[in-house]
Amino acid sequence: MALLGAINPLLTTAWAKGDAGWRLQEYVARGGYEALRMVLTQKMSQDQVIGEVKKSVLRGRGGAGFPAGLKWSFMPRAYAGDKYLVCNSDEGEPGTFKDRDLLRFDPHSVIEGMAIAAYAVGAGRGYNYIHGEIFDLYLRFEEALAEARAAGFIGQDILGSGFNFELFAHHGYGAYICGEETGLLESIEGKKGQPRYKPPFPASFGLYGKPTTINNTETFSAVPYIMRMGGDAYLNLGKANNGGTKLFSVSGHVNRPGNYEVPMGTPFPALLELAGGMRGGGKLKAVIPGGSSSPVLPAEIIMDCTLDYDSIAKAGSMLGSGAVIVMDESVCMVKALERLSYFYFEESCGQCTPCREGTGWMYRIVHRIETGDGRPEDLDLLGNLTGNIMGRTICALGDAAAMPVNGFLKHYRDEFAYHIEHKKCLVPPDVQRAGSTFYVGPSC
Ligand code: SF4
Repeated sequence: MALLGAINPLLTTAWAKGDAGWRLQEYVARGGYEALRMVLTQKMSQDQVIGEVKKSVLRGRGGAGFPAGLKWSFMPRAYAGDKYLVCNSDEGEPGTFKDRDLLRFDPHSVIEGMAIAAYAVGAGRGYNYIHGEIFDLYLRFEEALAEARAAGFIGQDILGSGFNFELFAHHGYGAYICGEETGLLESIEGKKGQPRYKPPFPASFGLYGKPTTINNTETFSAVPYIMRMGGDAYLNLGKANNGGTKLFSVSGHVNRPGNYEVPMGTPFPALLELAGGMRGGGKLKAVIPGGSSSPVLPAEIIMDCTLDYDSIAKAGSMLGSGAVIVMDESVCMVKALERLSYFYFEESCGQCTPCREGTGWMYRIVHRIETGDGRPEDLDLLGNLTGNIMGRTICALGDAAAMPVNGFLKHYRDEFAYHIEHKKCLVPPDVQRAGSTFYVGPSC
């Protein structure tokens, strides 16, 4: 899906050319690899590079929003053995479809960003872990890597600087949990993609037990621009504590679902307008602002938010990966939560009991409410369940499964109670059938 709109585009400048703009020649023509050349030939120190990224306040675009420069500074400088750099392109959060387009339309920006990051953290080898269901983009990344290697941007003695960095593509097989950074590392090592206990964190015990830095595709893609324009200028594109621009994957009931790039701090209504407004002139009911694990926000709250980590957190949700799922009034919130809960139940890796059992319980309770078998005590039971999952699991999937339940119950408890009492939905079936992404059957 090509870029459909942008305000001050940076990462997506190449996307307008579609499949004609991703090759090395095109990337170099628009200033590509100049940042890497500057870093290596001007012999910038590792601290200088990390300092610029810290100044930019580039926050991790995979969902956590952790400052990238700070993460890079955790790598042990004096460690004499192998160090690794890993790109997380295992984009699997429902609603998110931005990283695949970065790999489709501008893979060299990711390669250049990784090479600069590798220099900064002292990593000699890197992997880009690409979601298994986008195998065509894995093949494209391999082609882009071959171009970069042949041109001397990857490999030994890069640009005559003495810096060595080997980079490889690695594809997964589609398991959501491999997007969790330690599950991803296990998968690269050829094991089951099951998350590790933390600490130790990857910066001290990562891939093959060595110090490792992991960032998201979009995060790496922003690095060449930061080095070219300087950290301060990049920060000023966005707002305080939220530097730069961000890709938003807008789906659901808008006229033009797709990827949009806007500065951090853009008001939500401006993004909605870029996406063509509500489909069919419908009325906005709710938005999931950061991928399916982020708590849903009603229209009256999201319309007052700006799109940055702090504003969305203050409103009670998360910016996450920037996957904005827009719902109009045709949506049955019980059906929507049932669908989301099934996803997390299906994707739990099964290592820890609260997640393995709790995700199934949550799904089955929401399912019985949806299908007319709900019990009066079910809503309190759901609240009890989420409280016994959150913070008690090895990785964040447990929280990711519980947070949507809490969000839907916080804002739409009445709809759930109506389902339980009346054995049917507040939203009439014909209205749901006419408009809802989530409508899959006659049970409402
Ligand atoms: Fe696996 Fe869930 Fe435990 Fe994460 S929280 S390790 S997905 S069982």
